[in-house]
Amino acid sequence: MRVLIISDIHANLTAFQAVLKDAEGDWEYVWCLGDVVGYGPDPNESVELLRSMPHLCLAGNHDWAALGRLDIRTFNPDARKAVNWTRDTLTPENLDYLDALPTTFVIGDYTLAHGSPREPVWEYILEPIIAALNFAHFETPFCLVGHTHQPVTYELMNEGGDTEAVMPVYRQERLLNGKRQIINPGSVGQPRDANPDAAYAILDVEANIFEHRRIAYDIPAVQARMRKVDMPERLVTRLEHGW
Ligand code: ZN
Repeated sequence: MRVLIISDIHANLTAFQAVLKDAEGDWEYVWCLGDVVGYGPDPNESVELLRSMPHLCLAGNHDWAALGRLDIRTFNPDARKAVNWTRDTLTPENLDYLDALPTTFVIGDYTLAHGSPREPVWEYILEPIIAALNFAHFETPFCLVGHTHQPVTYELMNEGGDTEAVMPVYRQERLLNGKRQIINPGSVGQPRDANPDAAYAILDVEANIFEHRRIAYDIPAVQARMRKVDMPERLVTRLEHGW
């Protein structure tokens, strides 16, 4: 089975649609690693598009924030404003959907989490040492995470726990064998690796073949919708810079 791997859509319907168009015909099922909403102008449309496809989805911290499940006083003021708007905008049906999302999922050779297997909703795996500590927290050969909005693969190099970060080579199939790995496909709706293009991946789950991809989308159209609902300007401009 070929799976479309997406994460951190963040209510950016235009980026989500661009990914689906680019990946058309290349997958039968969707694995979404969380943060469907938060920041962007299209929370209901994004949830509903995801719900219309055969998929599984994990809970992200912004999904929980929209549910009022966590204390957002630790969020910065811009993020807080976006959370409140998202919470007020989501329909009861879509809130129920987000409320039912699991925090981890194990399927075949893969463990899925939003942040990390150790702290599924919260932990950012931003460097090899953090990845190294997480290999003890899942049993499958491979783990897929989102949350940092940065595409990368962490490979366990030896039994001593040495771990290396491998940067993605886009549109090149890679066979996942030999080493345990924690893989991040990057973010659909708010990339933070200085590349504003939407990020996603395609995985053949039986053959263990993984492919990172990027695709450009109409950023000004999303920004116009964000300004219309009075989103903080910092959140609007960051999309064009990819941070
Ligand atoms: Zn996110």
